[in-house]
Amino acid sequence: MDHPARISIVGGGIGGLTAALALQYFGYRVSVFEQARELREIGAGVAISPNAMHALNFLGVGERVAAQGGPAGPYVTRHFQTGEVLRIRVGNDYVERFGAAYHQVHRVDLQTALASTVRRNDPDCVFLDHCFEAFTQDSERVVARFTNGKTFASDVLIGCDGGASKVRAHVFGDDLVNYTGQVAFRALLPMTNVPPSIQEHPFAMFIGPNRFLLHYPLRHRTIMNVIAVGREPAWQEEGWRIPATVEEFTNLYSDLYPAALQLIRAIPPGTLFKWGLRDREPLQQYCKGRVVMLGDAAHPMTPFLGQGACMAIEDAMVLGRAFGTAGTFQEAFSLYESARKERANGVQLASRRQADEIQGVTARGANPGADPVDRGLYSYNPVTVPLAVSPRVPALPRGYSRSCQIAKSKLGDR
Ligand SMILES: Cc1cc2nc3c(=O)[nH]c(=O)nc-3n(C[C@H](O)[C@H](O)[C@H](O)COP(=O)(O)OP(=O)(O)OC[C@H]3O[C@@H](n4cnc5c(N)ncnc54)[C@H](O)[C@@H]3O)c2cc1C
Repeated sequence: MDHPARISIVGGGIGGLTAALALQYFGYRVSVFEQARELREIGAGVAISPNAMHALNFLGVGERVAAQGGPAGPYVTRHFQTGEVLRIRVGNDYVERFGAAYHQVHRVDLQTALASTVRRNDPDCVFLDHCFEAFTQDSERVVARFTNGKTFASDVLIGCDGGASKVRAHVFGDDLVNYTGQVAFRALLPMTNVPPSIQEHPFAMFIGPNRFLLHYPLRHRTIMNVIAVGREPAWQEEGWRIPATVEEFTNLYSDLYPAALQLIRAIPPGTLFKWGLRDREPLQQYCKGRVVMLGDAAHPMTPFLGQGACMAIEDAMVLGRAFGTAGTFQEAFSLYESARKERANGVQLASRRQADEIQGVTARGANPGADPVDRGLYSYNPVTVPLAVSPRVPALPRGYSRSCQIAKSKLGDR
């Protein structure tokens, strides 16, 4: 079998759209199937660290994302009760150290940058209102079926449908899902509502026993993004769009540093959301037959290292490169899986452990835990990380376009 002529992607989130872009870059035709009626991200920020920025830069959306976010500024870790500054990471040397910057962006801005570039390459490649239901596969093709009654046949299918992935359940069975005993809150508020003493250190994390609260500015300091995660034994629903009240939030964080508590109280009504964090075991295999998993669908992770989206972007870049290098889709899958499994599953497990570090602070002692910068997370570059040597001479793929050749020569320069 030659290279696949047609690739379907289930899920038009950060992972699915970056995968679409990376595959288009290497000369492939993709079709993205998204369950929502419009591409709409949740109102929240997302931090894109240098490891993922390499891919966005390579794929031509980095500059736009950086311009929309503005500079990240120093990162301050503070004691949850006293507000004492426990650590400052200046963070102005990332380009020097890692070759790319660190940016905090509105998720809508990131999704818009990705989606408009994907659509510019191929205006008809995104299919909205297509909720994946099931697939069948044989030696010739994989056929996806959607709840709207439509079907779509392709050579391979990439499952990018998030943490509660139906593709994953269909391929690997419904594995055990655990409520982690952690509930998260998120909100965006205008910077004008934010107390001045919080604005002094706009990018900060308050760490305390069983809880943390992180805030950072978006869109050139016009909006403050707030995310807090705390232990809450009572079961909470999964999903990022469950409305919450300021009272629920303050009840769990009543002993927080007064200015941080004021920040919570300044959240406008109707803009606060909560959800219970779920945990799934790492996959031992990312692909089966003609189907491969990517992003949260492959390695759903808790948010304690802020790396879920970054891992999805890394996956997408490496998968694109694997297709640009391999002679068959099986080879591409195998290059991708061997390059990604250890890295992404490792971050998934490290993220679990990080919870104990940053939520293990007592009222008297404070240990901010290992900084993700010092864990070597940011040194990875998905654009240049070696792919295992292909076992056979790659055949020239069908539809091997000029853009693929250009991409290859560009890679060769790095
Ligand atoms: C509040 C918050 C803050 C975060 N902060 C960070 C951060 O700072 N840095 C970071 O790296 N990560 C962060 N993360 C994690 C990150 O957002 C996720 O890891 C990332 O979105 C994963 O991307 P994905 O494309 O794999 O999945 P998703 O973003 O979940 O996208 C999945 C897509 O698939 C679609 N879909 C689902 N089911 C179906 C179906 N059956 N058929 C068709 N389509 C379907 C969904 O509608 C969605 O569009 C954060 C998460 C949250 C909630």
